[in-house]
Amino acid sequence: MARYRGAVCRLCRREGQKLFLKGTRCYGGACSIERRSTVPGQHGQGRRKPSEYALQLRAKQKAKRFYGVLERQFSKYFTLASKKTGITGENLLQLLESRLDNVVYRLGFATSRPEARQLVLHRHFTVNGKRVNIPSYLVKEGDTIAVREKSASTAKLKAVLETTAARVVPEWLEKDATANSGVVVHLPNREGIDLDVEEHLIVELYSK
Ligand code: SF4
Repeated sequence: MARYRGAVCRLCRREGQKLFLKGTRCYGGACSIERRSTVPGQHGQGRRKPSEYALQLRAKQKAKRFYGVLERQFSKYFTLASKKTGITGENLLQLLESRLDNVVYRLGFATSRPEARQLVLHRHFTVNGKRVNIPSYLVKEGDTIAVREKSASTAKLKAVLETTAARVVPEWLEKDATANSGVVVHLPNREGIDLDVEEHLIVELYSK
């Protein structure tokens, strides 16, 4: 399964905002974007006013990087979003937000989305009681996502749950911290998604 293997803090600096790709480090003074927020590369400091295309491309790259999705899969999400009723840009974000690895992260069962992806791959979670190890699995309204009982007692998961105990869970999810589980109350609408991106730019880019 392909994934980005380069320096992740560089991605945040490229997009000019925190993408929260490194877990606890993202919340402290060690965060690279806190220390050096310039665009990486030799010409990072002196870029000209971006063109319309550049703005559209940046919006797409930001969304891809935020959710850890590569180009081909992102393009599939766009096709799916454009076939659904409603606003395509919002549909796209809803699909990305419904990924199992994102939901695991949102529920505080991982410190970052990349970690959530890894934990899902390692079969630490169930959806409606069945083990699911596909990070891109799309959850539905009413689904229950839980940490497997056996996994919850491992040192790794214990440390994660302790670190994320105070994390605020979005209103479209309901967490049961005692049972290490959560329910999808409803699929998220745009207000429930904290990604600072103008999704219409992504739609414009794909509509060319
Ligand atoms: Fe981004 Fe986290 Fe690195 Fe900060 S520490 S630059 S938020 S990945």
